[in-house]
Amino acid sequence: MKNFYNTFGSLSFLLLFLFVGSCKKEPEKALNFLKSTYRPDKHILQNNIDKLMAVGVPPKFCYYYYPSIEYTIGYPAGTDPQLLDRIARSVEEELSKAASILYLSYQQALNAYQSAQNNAFQLVTGAGFNYYPPTVYEPYQLCPGDDGYMALIDPCFQKMLVGNMARDSIIAAQNSTILTKTTNTSVEYGAEVKLVAPTSFSPYKSTTVRTDNATNNFNPKFTWSTTDGFTVGVSHGHPSNSAPSPADAIWLVSNINVPALRNASTEERNFFRSNVFVTVVASLHTYVITVNNWQALEKLYFEFKADEAGFNANYIRLTTEHGSSEHALLSLFGEAINLYKAPAGSTNFKPVGMAYGGTGDFVIEILCP
Ligand SMILES: [Zn+2]
Repeated sequence: MKNFYNTFGSLSFLLLFLFVGSCKKEPEKALNFLKSTYRPDKHILQNNIDKLMAVGVPPKFCYYYYPSIEYTIGYPAGTDPQLLDRIARSVEEELSKAASILYLSYQQALNAYQSAQNNAFQLVTGAGFNYYPPTVYEPYQLCPGDDGYMALIDPCFQKMLVGNMARDSIIAAQNSTILTKTTNTSVEYGAEVKLVAPTSFSPYKSTTVRTDNATNNFNPKFTWSTTDGFTVGVSHGHPSNSAPSPADAIWLVSNINVPALRNASTEERNFFRSNVFVTVVASLHTYVITVNNWQALEKLYFEFKADEAGFNANYIRLTTEHGSSEHALLSLFGEAINLYKAPAGSTNFKPVGMAYGGTGDFVIEILCP
């Protein structure tokens, strides 16, 4: 597969409506055709392969995806254009479910495509029109060595790392205490996640759960030493049930120049960069965020520090606008972070991303096998 970036390089969603002239048949059977191509130009999965390097077992998966899906609707002359538009939009919503995702197997991609086509067929014929899918449609393959591959990691693999961390007995106990205390008091409780050694995923160091008695704030205390532990994360509760906040995402990059870490070895700094995370426990979900693109997140760090109030106001506006703090977080931080989500009390984390479709952008779960 070549030209991955060309395929996905454009930032805008493109939808082509080509009106083809009506058929030269007898009038009562004449059909016009609406030919359209669904193209999710901005793709969702751009993670960071060095997270996998950090644990030494980068998987070599090929991905499958659809850069576009074409379809044609045949409709009788005199059809209400608004009805046609409504049906075309519904079809695009269906197709976007299949075309906005990277698949880990050819079969998975094919199944999603066929299911989307079946739904589109039902929608179109249900409105009394004819539906014409393309006759042959193959998912594109993206494998190690192809252009664009290095921009990706397997989010399903990092999901396992996140799950392993959350299942560690020390971390699980911390998170459970944080959830209980935050729920019971409606103020944020939290604790740092610390390692005993600077570049090893375990053992973790037990940290006391505490509170600053604030409904919307918990101040982590970063340390990087044998005595106080090597802080690679922070867990805290959100009484409001919201996803990680801008300040939570900013925290990921905010300690890299704390003297103890600044003066640490390159190996330690790289380990930290690749593995720092924030966990938010709430009564509905547990979220974990990690850094996807360090430079991009650092840029946002400076924007945030320059105008914290403005940045937060924008976040609140987006949350209200889309009725979703996940949506607001991903809108602002996008490719700078990875977001994982599990039902409360579960460690079954799933990667969550943004897809771009006919009705605007929306939050989706990234499918794993
Ligand atoms: Zn928070």
